[in-house]
Amino acid sequence: MEIAKQCLPDSNRKSLPDESQLGFGMHFTDHMFLMDYEHGKGWHDPRIVPYGPVMLEPAAACLHYAQAIFEGLKAYRGIDGKIRLFRAGDNVKRLNRSAVRMCIPKVDEDLAHRAICELVTVDKRWVPSSNGTSLYIRPFIFANEPFLGVRPAKKYIFCIIASPVAAYYKEGFSPVKIYVTDKYVRAARGGTGEAKAAANYAASLMASEEAKACGFTQVLWLDAAERRYIEEVGTMNIFFVFDDILVTPALSGSILAGITRDSTIKLASGWGMNVQERQVTIDEAIELSQQGRLKECFGTGTAAVVSPVGSLHYKDKDYIINGSKTGELARRLFDELTGIQYGACPDHHGWIETI
Ligand SMILES: *Cc1c(COP(=O)(O)O)cnc(C)c1O
Repeated sequence: MEIAKQCLPDSNRKSLPDESQLGFGMHFTDHMFLMDYEHGKGWHDPRIVPYGPVMLEPAAACLHYAQAIFEGLKAYRGIDGKIRLFRAGDNVKRLNRSAVRMCIPKVDEDLAHRAICELVTVDKRWVPSSNGTSLYIRPFIFANEPFLGVRPAKKYIFCIIASPVAAYYKEGFSPVKIYVTDKYVRAARGGTGEAKAAANYAASLMASEEAKACGFTQVLWLDAAERRYIEEVGTMNIFFVFDDILVTPALSGSILAGITRDSTIKLASGWGMNVQERQVTIDEAIELSQQGRLKECFGTGTAAVVSPVGSLHYKDKDYIINGSKTGELARRLFDELTGIQYGACPDHHGWIETI
């Protein structure tokens, strides 16, 4: 399928925001990608059009029953000026896995991948060039059928928007303080935790607001059934260095399969590290911390790449990790991943495509 393009004349394009004031998700590029789905007709009419409001009936199903999924990836302006996408094909595959879980019709993966590339190409002047900045790309699908009965909707919109974003770390790494919640859960096995579903985020807000009100940056989530097994940290996957072993919770059905998680496992294994995907209990992490064997802890995700954890607060006690300083491995992973993304390090894994 051809992607139709209705592009703005240069004179009608917005002026670019100041690269030192980008923040996250505040500015949107000149264009967006849209495609419609109707039962019986399938996905049709893929097009790039000027960025702007989408018309929705108040009865649109997504507003009532949360049939909505999304993805997040970035385009980077390399040190050579070329624009790079990182593992975009994996984001498209995950979008379809989320779609299946939420009874949303799958999209053609080749078309969705092309849509990302073509949108970035049309809006390439929006890919910022200051150190650490990038163009955040947000593909998402939502049900827009005006119908209040409870069943999968018969109409959907697939949209891709893009937003220039600031460097996550402006003044170097800052290890975060994490609150381990045994009151709230993010996802239960059999639920929607492994889908990138909008509703998962709504369900997580209260716990993170309570943690923030107590001076913590984010929440560490435990499993829903026993509140023992570590799952994720905020909206990131979590890693521990126990002695010299890199450990991350195995994908259990309630954990989101992060692409940065996978890249981390592959890089660390390639460096000869012992990497284990297995169940990790909070008691094990606390016990090893008390024995001085919890060397590092960090979250991984597209937004921050690597986010060092400086302390865990669990059952009224604080456990400091690595003196609240960024660990060696977290720094090495951050340098290597951003090096690949910005073209400073060779890409041995076929993760990069230039556009
Ligand atoms: C998106 C997301 C992640 C990180 O995934 P990446 O592909 O690495 O960006 C981790 N956990 C949750 C809950 C997420 O939604």
